[in-house]
Amino acid sequence: MITTQEDYLESLMGMKKRIFMFGEEIENYVDHPMIRPSLNAVAMTYELANDPTHVELMTAESNLNGQRVNRFTHLHQSTQDLVNKVKMQRLLGHCTACCFQRCVGMDSFNALDVVTYQMDQELGTNYNQRFRKYLAHVQEENLVVDGAMTDPKGNRKLSPSQQTDPDLHVRIVKENEDGIFIRGAKVHQTGAVNSHEILVMPARSLKEADQDYAVACAVPADAEGIIYVVGRQASDTRKLEGGRIDVGNYQFGGHEAVIIFQDVFIPWEWVFMCREYQYAGNLVELFAAHHRASYGGCKVGVGDVLIGAAQAIARVQGTEQAAHIKDKLVEMVHLNETLYACGLAASYEGRRSPSGTYMINVLLANVTKLNVTRFPYEIARIAQDIAGGLLVTMPSEKDFNHPEIGPLLQKYLVGSDEFPTEWRQRLLRLIENITLGAGGVGYLVESMHGAGSPMAQRIMLTRLADMDAKEAYALKIAGLVEEG
Ligand code: SF4
Ligand code: FE
Repeated sequence: MITTQEDYLESLMGMKKRIFMFGEEIENYVDHPMIRPSLNAVAMTYELANDPTHVELMTAESNLNGQRVNRFTHLHQSTQDLVNKVKMQRLLGHCTACCFQRCVGMDSFNALDVVTYQMDQELGTNYNQRFRKYLAHVQEENLVVDGAMTDPKGNRKLSPSQQTDPDLHVRIVKENEDGIFIRGAKVHQTGAVNSHEILVMPARSLKEADQDYAVACAVPADAEGIIYVVGRQASDTRKLEGGRIDVGNYQFGGHEAVIIFQDVFIPWEWVFMCREYQYAGNLVELFAAHHRASYGGCKVGVGDVLIGAAQAIARVQGTEQAAHIKDKLVEMVHLNETLYACGLAASYEGRRSPSGTYMINVLLANVTKLNVTRFPYEIARIAQDIAGGLLVTMPSEKDFNHPEIGPLLQKYLVGSDEFPTEWRQRLLRLIENITLGAGGVGYLVESMHGAGSPMAQRIMLTRLADMDAKEAYALKIAGLVEEG
């Protein structure tokens, strides 16, 4: 069982994954300077669980084996579990200031449990039992599981089976008495390279003609036929420069990868949906709802770090007493806490589903995420406002260390002389990282598109808002319908 950061790193070293980056296959990805910060972020999900202060948030009593397990592997058994999940994500945001990657798997487990139970009730299958057996193994070993949903999709006007190339959504290409073979790709895969397992799911609702695309299954991340291609991030090669300051957040980061499945074999015991196309849409919706509420925790945690950096840079630059700076900091807090309030509300309004697993309130989860597509951008804008132009014009760390120009830069780029110039350097680089650099992948663009783009949330709001009831209230108050 993996319990410490060291166990985690060791467990990954034992896996033989095929990983590509910058046109080269990487041998030792665990120690690669571009990947290691993202591994460190996942490692915090283990480390904090060992800290007695955080045990309540980071672990939970499993309904599968009665043991305390890492919350990232847990099926929520109460609204308190849902609330604790959001609080845990905020905590991890504080500790890493980036995406710590492990939530996608957790949100997938909780959606799959509900949907496989429903399938079994209606179809007489035994997917839920299979799934829970698999999850018990994940809990016992304390594994990191990548929830793999988003297909490349090709021409968005066409369904999976209508595409010129039938592989643009993951599909079953072959089946035998031992299992199935899947082909296709999943894109934007958060933390893929850092995972022990990949949990494949469909990414949209499907019709009968698309039934080969209705597949949910688990596979070890180093199974034969799987290839990873790590995505680029803004300023990513700063991690290769050897310094610490210019990276902004030198310890932690996230990563996303394209995963390519080349006829990968999955034994039946790890198959949790096989052509039951009628359930694909529901699975996507439930997963998306959980993950949308998750953003009301993780982005808030990163937001706290950014707000803290904005206040600190104001002090370092001597602007902290200005009324407009104080007001801007309050505005950041207001926006950030609004996101948290939504994430908590969606959790407190959760309900037990027939499998016993608790489901988030879907309407409020979508409100949470729709706000997340906007507020972090506004928080980032204010942070840049407070930071000033040196945020993007500051010379490199190497210049500050140069024997001739270093002392000159130290002299001229100092702020308030209570603080060494290095404080200004480090805080500006941190703000740059979160609002413009590699950290902005997780804090901004992922806030926009992760767990579905804003239009997906608007569609859900339209469906769930019960506009007719609202109109009826108005008509009654306006005296346009009879009391009844
Ligand atoms: Fe977790 Fe947030 Fe990263 Fe999603 S974006 S995996 S919720 S930290
Ligand atoms: Fe995400």
